[in-house]
Amino acid sequence: MPYKAYRDINKTLEIRACDTTIEDTKKTFYCSTKDCKALMTLVNGGDSERAHFRRRSSSPKHSSIFCSADGNFASTEYDESQFNFDDISTKLIDPPSKPKRKVGKGTATLTGGGGKKSISTVHQIYCMCRKYDTYNNYLSNDILADERNFARYRNGIVGNKIVQCTPYHKFKDEFAYKMNYPSFPYPNGKHIRLNFSTEKLFWEYYHKFKDTNHKDLIIVLGNWTSSQSNGEYIAECTINSSGQIHFLKNENSIL
Ligand SMILES: [Zn+2]
Repeated sequence: MPYKAYRDINKTLEIRACDTTIEDTKKTFYCSTKDCKALMTLVNGGDSERAHFRRRSSSPKHSSIFCSADGNFASTEYDESQFNFDDISTKLIDPPSKPKRKVGKGTATLTGGGGKKSISTVHQIYCMCRKYDTYNNYLSNDILADERNFARYRNGIVGNKIVQCTPYHKFKDEFAYKMNYPSFPYPNGKHIRLNFSTEKLFWEYYHKFKDTNHKDLIIVLGNWTSSQSNGEYIAECTINSSGQIHFLKNENSIL
């Protein structure tokens, strides 16, 4: 569900969904990706929080996986002022050692506010970053490394970040997986390395990655360190918990 499109077929007049009016809902728009032939329609035009574009069902298919990578961030469901990326990262990367039996139980939120919750998953953070440049004073560019800021991160990724990537292959004789960043195929794309804290977790993802044909986008939250690999990969992190990885495949396949 993209948040940008063009008004004209020559793709010179870019329009953001949040800047549209109700009248625009009747119009045809053009996919924001260069050379993509998809025709777009506007959903919730005039509603700056909920407006987004969608491919017309009769239109040609999107040319790139990035056309619809934005997902759908339902901003009105979350309390922006409670968003704290550092706290969420710590919780997801180093979860309490005792396994939780009920999802969501005991996740106390800050007092005050109208009962709306904070963003709590990697996928929600990703969709937020694809929609907004800033959120609760965080810069999306500081949180998410994807194809849009590849120039900034292509030589290294450090600290708590979400990285958009696709699976490449297992490291021989190691419980680690090499990924393509930011996608595959991608001109001069880079590799990153995922280490797994347990053999069990590694094999769980090994089988999931095997099913992706190298092209399905995956997002990974990690505490990244730069690599000593002489260019084989630019950064690595350790996966301790399934909360750090999300497959975007399902959202993309329906759009
Ligand atoms: Zn497209």
